[in-house]
Amino acid sequence: MTDRIEKLVIVGGGTAGWLAACVMAARRPDLSVTLVEAPDIPTIGVGEGSWPTLRETLRTIGIAEDEFLRECDASFKQGSRFDGWTTGREGDSYLHPFTPPPPGDMAALLAAWRQDASGLDFAHAMTPQAAACARDLAPRQRAMPGYAGALNYGYHLDAGKLAAMLQRHATSRLGVIHLRDRVAGVVGTQESIEALNLAESGRIEGDFFIDCSGARAILIEGHFGSGWTDLSHISFNDSALAVQVPVQPDSPIASQTIGTAHEAGWLWDIALPTRRGIGCVYSSRFLDDERAEDILRDYVAANVPGAAPASLTPRKLTFATGHRTQFWRGNCLAIGQSAGFIEPLEASAIVMVELSLKALAENFPATRATLAIHAERFNALFRYRWERIVDFLKLHYVLSERAEPYWTAQRDPASIPQRLADQLVLWREQPPSHWDFPQVDEVFSAASQQYVLYGMGFPVPPAHGTQPAPEALARLAEVRERTRAMVSALPANRVYFDALNTASPPEAAQGELATS
Ligand SMILES: Cc1cc2nc3c(=O)[nH]c(=O)nc-3n(C[C@H](O)[C@H](O)[C@H](O)COP(=O)(O)OP(=O)(O)OC[C@H]3O[C@@H](n4cnc5c(N)ncnc54)[C@H](O)[C@@H]3O)c2cc1C
Repeated sequence: MTDRIEKLVIVGGGTAGWLAACVMAARRPDLSVTLVEAPDIPTIGVGEGSWPTLRETLRTIGIAEDEFLRECDASFKQGSRFDGWTTGREGDSYLHPFTPPPPGDMAALLAAWRQDASGLDFAHAMTPQAAACARDLAPRQRAMPGYAGALNYGYHLDAGKLAAMLQRHATSRLGVIHLRDRVAGVVGTQESIEALNLAESGRIEGDFFIDCSGARAILIEGHFGSGWTDLSHISFNDSALAVQVPVQPDSPIASQTIGTAHEAGWLWDIALPTRRGIGCVYSSRFLDDERAEDILRDYVAANVPGAAPASLTPRKLTFATGHRTQFWRGNCLAIGQSAGFIEPLEASAIVMVELSLKALAENFPATRATLAIHAERFNALFRYRWERIVDFLKLHYVLSERAEPYWTAQRDPASIPQRLADQLVLWREQPPSHWDFPQVDEVFSAASQQYVLYGMGFPVPPAHGTQPAPEALARLAEVRERTRAMVSALPANRVYFDALNTASPPEAAQGELATS
């Protein structure tokens, strides 16, 4: 064993493991990368909503966008729509789109929005993406270069197909060694792992280990006993029932994840070209499995034309809410479910995998001498990120006015993190800004907080002047202008994917749109 770190061993072949293998092999060709995956332990197999970061990740590892879209039965995700979260009454709906509001002073934009006579909700006033989502439009024209869009976007995808595509790519194009074997033991000390004992193929040595073994966390917890920071007193959901519902070939494809609140949680609805992934998320403290299944079947019956809800067999998932107290110990880093999980709202898991890999690839220890320094920095950064995610997810519940016991319990001050409570006081005087979220790669920026706050009717802070600034009014007029142009120039999702999957040449652009 030399002092240099050259041999990387990844345990786990789910979304996290294969993303880790691809990113590390593509970005650090000086390393040898081996992935060990137990053939008898299944992957979690859900995780169908991504963030826009996935475009950059896929581009970096050398996968073309069309190839990804076809192989993963993927569609575009432009944000999340929340139905029934504020009051639960008819028409209660708001959008959290991926495209931020126009640049500039948000207080001035809010004053202009309040005075503006067009009567648009916050998201429609701030970005053309709201109109694109309402019409099931794609965020890009096919003739645009891969991964470029007129609007910001991520994807909805088939998680099983994504892992399979990444596996093929890693092993055939990036030189990753793939061992189908189960880790049966770990050789090492509390400072370092030396080798893994595999059930069939014996000992495999490594200099650095990435634990992507899912909730089992066999290295970071099983070997190091890193500890668990429990967050279930803030985030109550711990269960989900998931189904996949086939759709008619000509049915519209929604541009956003639809999250519909119910009496003790919410339902996700994710549209792919061939099916809809629908799930009921709930807290077992407030709802039993039978009632959750009824809620799920009722939703499918009411929302998927031609579906046969009685024939569906929901898959039950349970999850612990929290994160590892230390993600990086010695020469081992946990990424994915092994690092932690907080319910699927706003799809924060895959983006945390990507952010972890970006941090690792750009700060990879060349020798053992720097391991402890990297570990301390990584742990501090990612503790910050998990805390910010918890705050942001809780925001969706704290602002609700729903009266069922689950929803009133969500507003109990004892369940609200102090930092979020302080921000809610502050945001009555000034809108969320970069002062609240100073990191470069914040998972949920000030723009995300603004869309949720003003989508849910949070009071707009008093304007500094009596009249809205002309510049802010002009910016909102510009959004309306761009909305008109985009609505007429962007194709419907269904048209886009039909053409992609029949390999028709890109359509002649109906109007010139700038990419962002
Ligand atoms: C209900 C629900 C909905 C979700 N929705 C989203 C979403 O919309 N967006 C999002 O970003 N995320 C979502 N997630 C999270 C997402 O599914 C996961 O974060 C993601 O799939 C990564 O999982 P993983 O690779 O860490 O673990 P897993 O998929 O569990 O993979 C673990 C791997 O480790 C291997 N393994 C385990 N033990 C051993 C051993 N002893 N030896 C060798 N190999 C071993 C297994 O074989 C497997 O290959 C959701 C999660 C849940 C529960």
